[in-house]
Amino acid sequence: MVVVEAGPVVRREEFARDIGHSLSNYYWDSGLRTTRGNVIIPTMQPRCLGGGSVYNSAICMRAADYALERWSWENGVHGLGKDDLAPHFDEVEEFMGVRPVQADVQGPRNELFRQACDSVGISCETIRRNEIGCRGSGRCNAGCPNGAKLSTDLRGIPEILEAGARVYTCCYVDRVLTSGSQMRGVTGVVVDPVTKKKSINVKVFAKSVVLAAGTLATPAIAQRSGMTADPIGSNLRFHPATVVTGNFPDGVFPWYGAAQGYHSLDMMNEGIKLESLWADAALMAFRVPGMGRNLKRQLQKYRNSCTWDSWVSGDSSVGRVRSVPGTMRSSYTFDLGRGDIRRLVQATITLSEMFFAVGAKTVLPGINGMPEMLRRPADIDQLRGADVDPKDLPVGSNHTYGTMPMGDDPDRAATDSNGLVYGTDNLYVADTSLFPSTPGANPMLTGMALANRIGGIVADRT
Ligand SMILES: Cc1cc2nc3c(=O)[nH]c(=O)nc-3n(C[C@H](O)[C@H](O)[C@H](O)COP(=O)(O)OP(=O)(O)OC[C@H]3O[C@@H](n4cnc5c(N)ncnc54)[C@H](O)[C@@H]3O)c2cc1C
Ligand code: SF4
Repeated sequence: MVVVEAGPVVRREEFARDIGHSLSNYYWDSGLRTTRGNVIIPTMQPRCLGGGSVYNSAICMRAADYALERWSWENGVHGLGKDDLAPHFDEVEEFMGVRPVQADVQGPRNELFRQACDSVGISCETIRRNEIGCRGSGRCNAGCPNGAKLSTDLRGIPEILEAGARVYTCCYVDRVLTSGSQMRGVTGVVVDPVTKKKSINVKVFAKSVVLAAGTLATPAIAQRSGMTADPIGSNLRFHPATVVTGNFPDGVFPWYGAAQGYHSLDMMNEGIKLESLWADAALMAFRVPGMGRNLKRQLQKYRNSCTWDSWVSGDSSVGRVRSVPGTMRSSYTFDLGRGDIRRLVQATITLSEMFFAVGAKTVLPGINGMPEMLRRPADIDQLRGADVDPKDLPVGSNHTYGTMPMGDDPDRAATDSNGLVYGTDNLYVADTSLFPSTPGANPMLTGMALANRIGGIVADRT
């Protein structure tokens, strides 16, 4: 087996540096990638051995049963029901060391979220993550400096190397080598991770090819390889997400504790998930309003604040990925639908209520055209029933899906239920682009369970 990865290996000492270093060196487009449409949506994808698992919050959650059922009746996906996937989830969870966040690393920000859920009477569940020995440094999104997060560069890559695989990093895959319906391998080019300068051209020959470059890159490789079927790239789905900040009279010190320790699944039937959150201060501070002296004053009180997030179902929103001919670039479009706007506004209302319920003095809802700062619970009423334009919402998403969707109808799906690309004998997909619609859960674990299943199928057939 040969693994080809566009990004470099990231060493642990790199994680001790600031988030700007991680973004500019180890994220695609320096972490500034956006979609265009009725709103500009920032979306971040790491570019390194291990991909998103290196820089994500390590939340491990199985796809919701209703999402798997929907894939079956809406898209004709077969053999991926709850019971079919259970053994793959079990195997991946054991291998990746998935366990609940330990009580001693929850820290004040996460505990405040739990108390807030209790206060407004909604459920609160402890998040499960793939880590061993987390010290609650809250630095997951800049890379774990403690080697606690079991990302795939630490769990998975070492094992396949041991079994005889070869791994080539800094090697950008341009296209698949095709011969009719037979795939013969891939072509690519070595790209310097810092200067981005291209050097040697590479060809890798293989009996089967598995694309796992992520939702925004896998369809682009297929398109560059001459695959023009409409489902390839045309069903981009996100979990649109928003954040709300609460300011407290005393120190919360939000940087202490696991990056994400608790979430509330109470509103999932409305398509809304609530989470406690911490990223790097330089990232989170984008939510602090004001300019100049005013901004400085707000930042001086930053230790008294914390930010929680919500992502919503994404059911009414859709986009598209298109590779730009003759280049290594792609364009991404995405329109946020009314249903998701309503869900994001409702999430903002609930998070604001939660902040006031645990003693926040002010809340920053972040919606343009609404009060910048809510000073009392009654102020939340201004958000209820508000007609909000998509451009007025602070929305982003790192949960991406749907650009190589599975299904039984080649007019609507790019692959069958085993990840085999229609019209080919031996080209597979094994990443989150396969999800025909959003999974009702944070994506990583379901992506890994699918990859575990597809890996077995490819091995049997090759
Ligand atoms: C900051 C952040 C926090 C997140 N938190 C969570 C979380 O807590 N839980 C969760 O479930 N999900 C989380 N996610 C989302 C999750 O990380 C992704 O859904 C997941 O990593 C997707 O897996 P993938 O295999 O589809 O793609 P990726 O993990 O993106 O892997 C694709 C790999 O392919 C490489 N690649 C791309 N193009 C090429 C090319 N042309 N040639 C060669 N290689 C290429 C990329 O560099 C990358 O390494 C988070 C994401 C981010 C960015
Ligand atoms: S919270 Fe800190 S120690 Fe724990 S997994 Fe994240 S980066 Fe590592």
